[in-house]
Amino acid sequence: MTDLYTQIANSPVGKLIVKNVGLPQPVALERFSAGDPVITGPVKFGAAPGGRLVGPVSDLLQSIGVEPPAEGAEMKAVVFDATGIETLEDLDVLQSFFSPVIRRVQSSGRIVVLGGPDDASPAQRALEGFTRSVAKESRRGATANLVRVEPGAEDGIVSTLRFFLSSKSAYVDGQVVRIDDAAGGPVESSWEAPLAGKVALVTGASRGIGAAIASTLARDGAHVVGLDIPALLDDLDAVTSGIGGSSLALDITEESAPRAMAAHLKAEHGGVDVVVHNAGITRDRTLGRMDHDRWRSVLDVNVIAPQRITAELTKGKGLLRRDGRVVGVSSISGIAGNGGQTNYATSKAAVIGLVSELAPALAQRGVTINAVAPGFIETEMTAKMPVALREGGRRMNSLSQGGLPVDVAEAIAWLGDPASGGVNGNVIRVCGQSMIGA
Ligand code: NAP
Repeated sequence: MTDLYTQIANSPVGKLIVKNVGLPQPVALERFSAGDPVITGPVKFGAAPGGRLVGPVSDLLQSIGVEPPAEGAEMKAVVFDATGIETLEDLDVLQSFFSPVIRRVQSSGRIVVLGGPDDASPAQRALEGFTRSVAKESRRGATANLVRVEPGAEDGIVSTLRFFLSSKSAYVDGQVVRIDDAAGGPVESSWEAPLAGKVALVTGASRGIGAAIASTLARDGAHVVGLDIPALLDDLDAVTSGIGGSSLALDITEESAPRAMAAHLKAEHGGVDVVVHNAGITRDRTLGRMDHDRWRSVLDVNVIAPQRITAELTKGKGLLRRDGRVVGVSSISGIAGNGGQTNYATSKAAVIGLVSELAPALAQRGVTINAVAPGFIETEMTAKMPVALREGGRRMNSLSQGGLPVDVAEAIAWLGDPASGGVNGNVIRVCGQSMIGA
């Protein structure tokens, strides 16, 4: 959908007006195209004394061929290993390192702070306030995120650091991610085709965010089984045939749906590697006007069906193979709540609950489960919103614009990467650091 304000604000006259009147200044975010490298431009890397990640980060930066910036020059990204910070006094290093460089970060630049567990010390917890504030101060489409790396997980940072350095993370801002020591150790994957040879099931794939997820996972090498309700089979076929995938027409709320899905995946592919529970509906009413059908249908589609499907695919030896990935689609409504959406927010909070409940047990078999929580994403759903609400949703975030379906898809592709085995039980907001529920 066209964001007219962003177009006007980036015209020569518009730029002048928004600057002088103090209006939000969204810039066109750089987004990834197939064949792009992880990052182009210099990367400044620094570390607090005693940092555990100096070796792994240096190796990665070298492997992707980045150079440090020349003295006084601009840079595309800043990475800081803060794992060595132990005391509150040690936090001074954040100011001494970042203050001289922060204004030299280029547009759509990346700032990545690497920390340890948040309960290790007050100083480690402090990294969250620091990084989120840097994200809010950043201009010109630059983002800042914090990656917490558990001791022992140092060699499992590659897929996550690649994602946060690249334009794939264009709309992920002010987030905190935790990387654990993955059962079975780190797995490697290529930047060009991390999902080569994998089979991915995507529900609600006929349009919107689901269609973007399907084509992004296919771009990364997966065979995508797109699923949607039978009435949308033509639309679904149009998506899957364009990406060399296949279609499965099913209503996920049918009693028999999980078994039918499992039977299809077993017969056609021998199993599945990535499962994305994207299908979702809204049936908004304030609680006093909420009838049981509206309440229950939203819970059924958004979380009860994903729970039943996940249980079916992981029971016994499980059709979900080793290094399998499950990704739920939550919403910032499930974090912040939203008037008129008690049913939807309940279901989307439950998606997060499902992730917390299942993550420890799935980790034992090398499987992860995470959720993404989109904010305002430009889709048919948000196009139907009243104009004032829509404009509010678009601008009330640090990037002053709505995200695109592909932004959610890129985050899911990162979580689906076999090299992301240490990223388990996380909820990643894809919201441009929305002020809602921040
Ligand atoms: P969408 O355009 O409505 O697409 C969802 C798809 O899921 C539709 O094709 C839908 O078919 C399908 N679906 C619904 N019920 C189903 C069922 N019982 N079985 C199989 N498929 C079913 O939605 P979207 O905007 O792309 O959103 C995708 C996901 O992101 C949803 O989970 C949504 O809650 C979440 N999300 C979106 C936003 C946003 O800003 N757009 C923000 C936060 C979270 P029907 O035609 O039957 O509905």
